[in-house]
Amino acid sequence: MIRELTVLSGKGGTGKTSITAALGSFAKNAIFTDCDVDAADLHLLFNPDILETHAFEGGTKAEIDPDACIGCGICQDACRFDAIKRTDHGWFEIDSLHCEGCRLCERLCPESAIFSIRSMNNQWFVSDTRFGPLVHARMGPGEENSGKLVTTVREKAREIARSKNYNIIINDGPPGIGCPVIASLAGIHKILLVAESSESGYHDLLRIIELISKYDVDIFGIINKFDVNAGISERIVSILQSNNIKITGKIPFDKKFVEAMVQGKTISEYAPGSAIVKVIRNTWEMISS
Ligand code: SF4
Ligand code: SF4
Repeated sequence: MIRELTVLSGKGGTGKTSITAALGSFAKNAIFTDCDVDAADLHLLFNPDILETHAFEGGTKAEIDPDACIGCGICQDACRFDAIKRTDHGWFEIDSLHCEGCRLCERLCPESAIFSIRSMNNQWFVSDTRFGPLVHARMGPGEENSGKLVTTVREKAREIARSKNYNIIINDGPPGIGCPVIASLAGIHKILLVAESSESGYHDLLRIIELISKYDVDIFGIINKFDVNAGISERIVSILQSNNIKITGKIPFDKKFVEAMVQGKTISEYAPGSAIVKVIRNTWEMISS
């Protein structure tokens, strides 16, 4: 049976991707996904060779036909997202970064000068890495449907796992508690929460625990930079324990973590004898047993 683990953190910058990559260096017969499709960065440590590139359909965006537009301004007045601008020449154009694709302007335009196009500004990839296959993606700026893209990435990983007999899929999850996170949790068996010892890290942890407590899966927790703020780390331990989340270890602050990332290596490659690696190896043993 193929097992699936999603690594989550509730917010960015907790060391989640570094920890996911280091787990990958211990895993055998694993396949990986980067579900943080809005700001993917696992590839920085995995240095993938891209084997396949696929376009992913995003949401719709409005466009104005300048030859048909008479410059009445009805569309600009109607757009709640302030996505329609008058140009220096007095005509109108759409700011695609702000357009939400609601199509209201298209319905109101008296000249039928507005039409919608589906964005193809997103891609997903299948790659080879030194740790196993990686399925990852890149979303264009201002694009939507990141939850659907996460689902696409995960479906492809499952397909590869089934056809090539990989026994675990490790998902580097997105930050926050929105749609992409929910998409990264469907059908998984285990969650690893990466908590950072800071006030904001603590509050984000509370939010993500509230979300994942609805899932009937094994949940583990690891605390990064635990020695930076002992008081907050104690509160994190307490909240993890009170939610029956198994604590796999506490990682001390160490600039080697950043140095490894700068060199494009996992911490287990960069500093194999470090205390961090000991904690992550223990985490992997607990999760994979
Ligand atoms: S509503 Fe139509 S015609 Fe009027 S400014 Fe907008 S695009 Fe041009
Ligand atoms: S589709 Fe909606 S959001 Fe986009 S420009 Fe038209 S009214 Fe504004």
